[in-house]
Amino acid sequence: MAGLHELTIHETRGALLRKEASVTEVVTAYLERIEELDKSLNSYLTVLADQALEQARAYDSGTLPLQDKPLGGVPLALKDVLCTQGVRTTCGSRILENFIPPFDATAVARLKENGAILLGKTNMDEFAMGSSNENSAYGPVRNPWDMERVPGGSSGGSAAAVAADLCAGALGTDTGGSIRQPASFCGVVGMKPTYGRVSRYGLVAFASSLDQIGPITKDVRDAALLLQVVAGHDPRDSTCLEQPVGDLQARLDEPIRGMTLGIPKEYFVEGMDPEVARAMEEAFAVFRDLGARLVEISLPHTDYGVAAYYIIAPAEASSNLARYDGVKYGFRKQEARDLLTMYRESRNLGFGAEVKRRIMLGTYSLSAGYYDAYYRKASQVRTLIKQDFIQAFDNCDAIIAPVVPTPAFKIGEKTQDPLQMYLSDVLTLPASLAGIPGISVPCGHTSGGLPVGLQVLGPHFGEAVVLQLAHNFEKNTDHGNKKPSFP
Ligand code: GLN
Repeated sequence: MAGLHELTIHETRGALLRKEASVTEVVTAYLERIEELDKSLNSYLTVLADQALEQARAYDSGTLPLQDKPLGGVPLALKDVLCTQGVRTTCGSRILENFIPPFDATAVARLKENGAILLGKTNMDEFAMGSSNENSAYGPVRNPWDMERVPGGSSGGSAAAVAADLCAGALGTDTGGSIRQPASFCGVVGMKPTYGRVSRYGLVAFASSLDQIGPITKDVRDAALLLQVVAGHDPRDSTCLEQPVGDLQARLDEPIRGMTLGIPKEYFVEGMDPEVARAMEEAFAVFRDLGARLVEISLPHTDYGVAAYYIIAPAEASSNLARYDGVKYGFRKQEARDLLTMYRESRNLGFGAEVKRRIMLGTYSLSAGYYDAYYRKASQVRTLIKQDFIQAFDNCDAIIAPVVPTPAFKIGEKTQDPLQMYLSDVLTLPASLAGIPGISVPCGHTSGGLPVGLQVLGPHFGEAVVLQLAHNFEKNTDHGNKKPSFP
């Protein structure tokens, strides 16, 4: 049998129920591995060793029932942007260095109700702003496949932890690609659900009209399982959908023969790495072999996605981040001369450079006289992008495309040029602006051994079809089985 740390969530459950391992053994396997590897990876900001072991013992002694909860005894990690009662939640920022939420996010509460063991909180770009995890106030995360490279972002800690087997699975958040892109860079599965599928209650807000919580896992079945647990209506989030979620695992093994898959011609952008292009061609051939019909489609407004997103997201962020004033939360500059200086200095010392850049961009584009030229126009472009997808889905069941035009880049490579960093999001932003579900599933490796991800996008509420396609692909390839090796 594989080492306990290598098991997926569903395999862990199987091993626990068959009594091949105790919960304490599973938790200990992860804790030892974190101890051994995470000094260099830096994927965790907080490890809850004592709490996790205590819970494990409660399962093993029978105080907690293992049987009836779908995640009973499974150790999971959470991106540090999700509020956890009594556990520090930093959002990767100095300003929340000592913030201990008095409540759990709905997604966290649902994991707990379903038996999960919380192993720790993972590193991230500050307030989820970034594509490389280099914007964390707590140091960059390293990519387990190449320690000189970024794991992607902003859920870089969650993706690296899953890839390095430092947890059985994790939650991340995706505002413009922050689940799919790091999943692609780290060779794991990451899914962004339809906007509104998962409650945002207790998710620290970045851009409220875009933020979604989703799973980062070792395989597609686990993604379906985790999403099933956290998805569904929550009266505490008015944007959370009332539509029933349905059984997300039911269609996983259904064949995809006869389905029509769209390949957007605009997604094969200039500057795409030839090895990514090759991995795509090979992935498309797999779908053809499985009996799908592949058609070229057009998403004509793709090019405007980056510009629209980098107006809308900072605008919302500038408003959401106004609450960090040194009074109610976190860091406060002591001994300030007067109230205004206290606000100013708390924010100046508490926020990092990228967050300040976004606040300035957002404040500017919302200000009187500029609103029409920027925010309103960007919102109109957003509608066009959404219509592109709705029209495309008239002619296909789902869309397949690359997640990112390149594999993971080197640490430091893009930090001097924010625009280059923003441009790397070109293939994930449109689905976020449109609110549709998407997944990244491993589809190959470059000659240098870096993972490449395939993106499957579905229509609104189309989680089941996205998961079905990704699962069928995964079952017929072995890209997801490869593991990074550590020196
Ligand atoms: N990279 C994008 C940004 O920096 C998306 C981040 C995210 O999805 N949270 O805003």
